[in-house]
Amino acid sequence: MRFVSTRDRSGRDVSFGEAMFRGLAPDGGLYQPTTDPDLRALIRSFGADMSFVDLAGALIQGLFPEEYDAASARDLALRAFPFAPQLRRLEPGVVLLELFHGPSCAFKDFGASFLAASMEEHLKARGERATILTATSGDTGSAVAQAFHGRENIDVVILYPSGRVSPLQEQQLTTLGGNVLALEVTGSFDDCQRMVKDAFVDEALNDRLNLTSANSINVGRLIPQSFYYIYAFAQLKEEVEDEIVFAVPSGNFGNLTAGVLGWRWGMPVSEFIAATNANDVVPQYLDTGVFTPRPSLKTLANAMDVGNPSNFERLQAIFADGMLDINSLISGVAVSDDLIRRTMRDVWERDGELVCPHTATGVYAARERLAAEPGSDATVVTLATAHPAKFVEVSREAVGVEPEIPERLARLLDLPKESVVIEPTVDALRAVLLDRY
Ligand SMILES: *Cc1c(COP(=O)(O)O)cnc(C)c1O
Repeated sequence: MRFVSTRDRSGRDVSFGEAMFRGLAPDGGLYQPTTDPDLRALIRSFGADMSFVDLAGALIQGLFPEEYDAASARDLALRAFPFAPQLRRLEPGVVLLELFHGPSCAFKDFGASFLAASMEEHLKARGERATILTATSGDTGSAVAQAFHGRENIDVVILYPSGRVSPLQEQQLTTLGGNVLALEVTGSFDDCQRMVKDAFVDEALNDRLNLTSANSINVGRLIPQSFYYIYAFAQLKEEVEDEIVFAVPSGNFGNLTAGVLGWRWGMPVSEFIAATNANDVVPQYLDTGVFTPRPSLKTLANAMDVGNPSNFERLQAIFADGMLDINSLISGVAVSDDLIRRTMRDVWERDGELVCPHTATGVYAARERLAAEPGSDATVVTLATAHPAKFVEVSREAVGVEPEIPERLARLLDLPKESVVIEPTVDALRAVLLDRY
């Protein structure tokens, strides 16, 4: 499998390794597979008894037959995924695909962990080291930090705005130690992002540290996110036949794009529902055909507060050949904060489950889809993107119930915090990096 930029499909194609270490294409576009391998037979051969690691290994080999044989593909899957998705029936027609059983308790663990395992493998093979440099406003940094923690040949530097992340988020970033350095910046998230950008254009620093990023747009995070859709299909195929529907809580639209890739490779899907919060530019686009990015609005499902989703460019590129109208595969639903609260409360009362505010947008969309077709036996698989314990205040306020904190999060709360406090300037960042590495 080779990759090209969304902005120049006739431009130079690159290997998975090059696309992964570059992150963005040189022209500012996103990397996209040049061709769609036909994995229909492979995907149909997967049964409900197949483990996630075995399924992921088979897909890695199917996608990259020149790079991996069966054994090395399974070995990569094993190193990338020491955790697995779980399916849970919520109510008739609605199945939750729980993606929060990884270390940071959110679905981003799947992409980040695969990226980390692949980068480690490439660097060891070449005898090189690299430094991951990334800024976080709280949530996404923890998946990256945990995924790269303890990997060989890689150091991780995470910048976060002091006093502006939640106590749990701060513990997730600052208690790992080892190859993970947490820089507590006395400024805003925008300062952190600017410092990272400035560091990337500093050639001397780049040469010395071999800087690379682990952004959510990285193909190394995108590709593995398709694996859990295919896993859900394999688990449910006896009952869904070809009528599976996925409801996907969406912000930057990486998760949904990965599902669409799985469909391109041969997973039978009848529909994807893009569930957003009040940041509804994609549902609007699906309704009107006009894409109007806007500044983001703050909502209860804050990991989806995106007004200009980067992966929209990938979705457009996928449908650009005109073979299929995007509306025949993807529909959109925007869910207000009020409906998020009501859905969380109602799921608790009806099903005895707490769902996080992001997952609630998907459940709302799934229920609306089923209600529109009474008597249909469709199954809507709703991606449960985070554990409710990451959003204690919202649960308390919306449902009046405190989620139980999983052991892997509770443990962090007692560990000593280790961070280096720095001024919000690239000079301060450069000084720390040169001193440490
Ligand atoms: C990042 C995130 C989302 C949105 O995923 P995208 O791939 O950006 O659409 C949804 N829910 C949670 C909990 C997240 O962390």
